[in-house]
Amino acid sequence: MSHPLVLVHGGAGDVPAERRARHAQGCLEAAQAGGRILAAGGTAVEAVVAAIEVLENDPVYNAGTGCALTRDGRVTLDVSLMDGETRDAAGLAALGPFKNPIRIARAMLYEPVVMMAGIEATQWAERHGFRQVPEESMITEYVRARWRAVMDGTGKSNFAGGTVGAVARDAQGRLAAGTSTGGTMGKLPGRVGDSPVIGAGTYADDVAAISATGDGEAFLRSVFAARLADKVRYGRPPEQSLRKILERVRDRFDGIGGAILITRDGGPFRYWTSEVMSHGWWTPQGEGCGIEP
Ligand code: ASP
Repeated sequence: MSHPLVLVHGGAGDVPAERRARHAQGCLEAAQAGGRILAAGGTAVEAVVAAIEVLENDPVYNAGTGCALTRDGRVTLDVSLMDGETRDAAGLAALGPFKNPIRIARAMLYEPVVMMAGIEATQWAERHGFRQVPEESMITEYVRARWRAVMDGTGKSNFAGGTVGAVARDAQGRLAAGTSTGGTMGKLPGRVGDSPVIGAGTYADDVAAISATGDGEAFLRSVFAARLADKVRYGRPPEQSLRKILERVRDRFDGIGGAILITRDGGPFRYWTSEVMSHGWWTPQGEGCGIEP
């Protein structure tokens, strides 16, 4: 028997001081939702899906309801999920407005296709029983104001600080990872970040499960998650490896952000080079959350 564990993040970034406690609390609730699945004997994959669904439903995060918008004010969603035991994976990019993109990734997880994008991905979801919701129902006032600020040049166009991700280890020692986001605020229509890309924003195998958040282009160019998983596989200490690779993303690829990591028998590990990264964890022995270093 292994030690069940759920670790989630609610995005790296520059969350305003008055919203920080709320961001951390939401992560704790998501980790608890994943924990309930594991406590009932569920799999790591189902725990990751349950945790991410809670965060997608929470308008505070840049995933599902409350997601960031494209330059032309549209909702396009990126999501991925990976089963570390079987190495099955699903990534969907530039999806239309669906309430819970992680459920679509779950539906695609054991299909032969690994990555789908755009209109065809949206149509695939509809063929598999998912219904788009009115775009307006996913856009919060806070997001609209932030989008306006980016558009008129008074706000930062960087990542929004609210992408969500989860990693889990179940009682059988199986690992899983997932990530869900609206991407960067004011992104170019058609732009895809690291979050739906297996090996960049998300990765899980039999030794490590990883979800990243931050400057997507830097995480893509540095092939972040796959590199970190390989370090763990070849015996490097997980915590130092996580820190070193994030510092490398910052110093050599000019991108800041953070990530969560669990291994076959270790964790929870988390590290970020941005100002904050909200996170929460659950084990049968205890739970917690935080956001500041
Ligand atoms: N990595 C995400 C992206 O580039 C954004 C984020 O993590 O906040 O789409």
